[in-house]
Amino acid sequence: MTESTLQEQTATLLVGAYRSRCSHCQKGALLSDTHHHRVAPGYPRAQRQEAGCGARFTATASTEISLTHADLTDLRPDLPVLSQTRD
Ligand SMILES: [Zn+2]
Repeated sequence: MTESTLQEQTATLLVGAYRSRCSHCQKGALLSDTHHHRVAPGYPRAQRQEAGCGARFTATASTEISLTHADLTDLRPDLPVLSQTRD
């Protein structure tokens, strides 16, 4: 990669107990999605028919103490889990 390479937007999938969201735009995300094209319904910040930011999820992180590293690995075995939690 050179500096002139157009970087793909990436984000962390922040997983909570009942919903998950995108670290880039902070809107709801669907756990099964590889890219943030859809905003999860029911998320407080989501407007109707709102589209996601399109970022590619490159990792997962838990926002709930009850959701362990193993839980996230189980949910998304294709993504690495960040130990950092944030909300
Ligand atoms: Zn997003």
